[in-house]
Amino acid sequence: MKLRKMILVALLVTLATGTLCARNVRHPRQLRLYVIDCGRLKVEDPSRFNFKKEELKVLDLSVGCYLIVHPKGAMIWDTGVVPDQSFKADGSPATKEYATATVPLKTQLAKIGYEPVDVKYLALSHFHWDHVGNASEFATSTWLVTKVEHDALFSSSLPPRTDASMFAPLKDTRTVMLPEADYDVFGDGSVVIKPTPGHTPGHRVLFLKLAKTGPIVLSGDLYHYPEEVNSNRIMQGDVVEQTAASRASLQAFLKQSGAKLWIQHDLNGFSKLKKAPEFYQ
Ligand SMILES: [Zn+2]
Repeated sequence: MKLRKMILVALLVTLATGTLCARNVRHPRQLRLYVIDCGRLKVEDPSRFNFKKEELKVLDLSVGCYLIVHPKGAMIWDTGVVPDQSFKADGSPATKEYATATVPLKTQLAKIGYEPVDVKYLALSHFHWDHVGNASEFATSTWLVTKVEHDALFSSSLPPRTDASMFAPLKDTRTVMLPEADYDVFGDGSVVIKPTPGHTPGHRVLFLKLAKTGPIVLSGDLYHYPEEVNSNRIMQGDVVEQTAASRASLQAFLKQSGAKLWIQHDLNGFSKLKKAPEFYQ
């Protein structure tokens, strides 16, 4: 009788607060977005973005990681630039090329109550080095990836601006190949991965329908600086016509949906966001 009562209480608590996943992590009943500071990129000369120094308010770029927690599971969107293994025990910032990060991603996830094994889905806006820094930590997640990016990462001639060591353990990870259309991750329209090729062939942005915050779009690298939005300047290395078309279709979507654009690399905008363990919902 006592045991039955305990089971009943546990069941009621679960129903009241959310669902349980494999490691008994409790998912909330309402969609949450945790913004995680994964470091920054030092930019001395913005000419590769087709800007002069004096045309930009802030030169350096933020690096955001985002944990999206849905009642049906959690998804990580982009995994930073500096691998967690680069951090020393003394707690000092770690660097990779011209990137610096101050706190490991896993330490920040732990503060929210998550380990990589609790994260059901891994999704990367694209395969560049400053977005895949800790991708290999999520080898137990299901990887939502475009075929074109998946094949490029494991081909004999690696594309530029990425690093094979950062995703090697993902070779045998369970994958869902994303269609050339919107992909509704949880089937209720609240977390949607949208095709926006140009920066890379499989580049994606993420639409989130947050109940209190309202709808937002996480930009990936469709934009880097807010100054790109009106000037429509496109960085070197992009397929210009594709990025232009992706931006035009995203701007139409923003207008129609009322979603706000959060530019992931916009250091000024990013610094104003509340960071994990606080969250948006
Ligand atoms: Zn980037």
